[in-house]
Amino acid sequence: DLKMGFVGLPNVGKSTLTNILAGACHAEAANYPFCTIDPNIVQAVVPDQKFQYLVKTWMPPSVVPAVLKIVDIAGLIRGASEGAGLGNAFLSHIAAVDGIYHLVRAFDSDEVIHVDDSVDPIRDLETIQSELCLKDKESLSKVVEKEKDRVRKEKGLARSSDPPLGEIFQSAYDKCLQLIESNTPVQTYEDFSMGEVDIIRDFGLITTKPQIYVINMSKNNFLRKGNKWLPKIQAWVNDHGGGQIIPMSCEFEQELMDLNDDADAKQSFIQKCEEEVKAMGLSGPGFAVKSVVPRLIRAGRQALCLQSFYTAGPKEVRAWTIMKGTLAPQAAGVIHTDFERGFIKAEVANFDDFKALHNGEKGMAKVKEAGKYRQEGKSYVMQDGDIVVFMHNT
Ligand code: GDP
Repeated sequence: DLKMGFVGLPNVGKSTLTNILAGACHAEAANYPFCTIDPNIVQAVVPDQKFQYLVKTWMPPSVVPAVLKIVDIAGLIRGASEGAGLGNAFLSHIAAVDGIYHLVRAFDSDEVIHVDDSVDPIRDLETIQSELCLKDKESLSKVVEKEKDRVRKEKGLARSSDPPLGEIFQSAYDKCLQLIESNTPVQTYEDFSMGEVDIIRDFGLITTKPQIYVINMSKNNFLRKGNKWLPKIQAWVNDHGGGQIIPMSCEFEQELMDLNDDADAKQSFIQKCEEEVKAMGLSGPGFAVKSVVPRLIRAGRQALCLQSFYTAGPKEVRAWTIMKGTLAPQAAGVIHTDFERGFIKAEVANFDDFKALHNGEKGMAKVKEAGKYRQEGKSYVMQDGDIVVFMHNT
């Protein structure tokens, strides 16, 4: 059950964004007060046009979309890797997520205090990244000591000896250490060998998790697609292994979300924003005004290598989440463990084929006629957007 987590300094907008996501979706857990270290989890509904199409086609009484679990990990401050603030407890929460939204404040506000007094996203990026890297450095030194112990035992060497380590272990360790010491997430490095990757997986590092940089700016900056910090942030990210940057504005998203129940008001809000954009002398397709929340959720899912398959019928249309590369029996197991054990075959239609062929009908008859309804066996690798019926003997 893979999760993303929001990470960032206090007052950058993590809980605001978590609430925005929860507002559009159903919050799984109640809001915990900030002072506890229990993270707040939202289940963000994955925006999915294919799913919506299937829902419109079947109009079933039960509709279950895919969700992305996101944890609001509060409490990181400078020195956390050495136990400051919520310290290690906080870092263990990061260890428990599979991908990180690194939220950075680029909005000015006299009302919102910055922990370091001034707004400086580059300094903040450095602070957070170095806390994560310092923690990884500590993990690495433990890992290497453990490996040395193992080798000593294996070779019957004295405790005081400094045994040579395996070649692949040593190179994996050296590369990780070099990255971490330059404040660069290990995850961004692309030239590890397969053997090194296997070893690094067991290192238990935080910076092997994918990171998405989310830049929280004022509504005005967001609308004009400009913020004085963005080019500097881009340069910093490039210098630290690269990565995806998503500019957004909690202020804008919050205003939009407050209008959720009133489609007309929402429309006129968007219109007003578009007029503001035009008044700034900006126009063109790049300046369309829309929420970034769907992109944020999709990017998180992508970072975790997740995709959907669907089951669709008169009673229910449902999206199920699997890892890319999942085989049909394991996908069946997501629905019910018995389906995996008793897996016989999967009947599969690709969404695009269904859409092109079904001609308004709810069933798969037309898809079958066209020879596009497939029988797949145990070795079938699930494709994104498969519509599936699993046959099983349970
Ligand atoms: P957290 O500590 O990272 O969870 O930050 P919060 O979400 O609690 O935000 C801290 C304060 O900043 C709150 O008062 C928010 O209303 C405010 N805030 C968040 N995003 C924005 C923004 O985009 N613009 C402005 N002006 N204030 C914001």
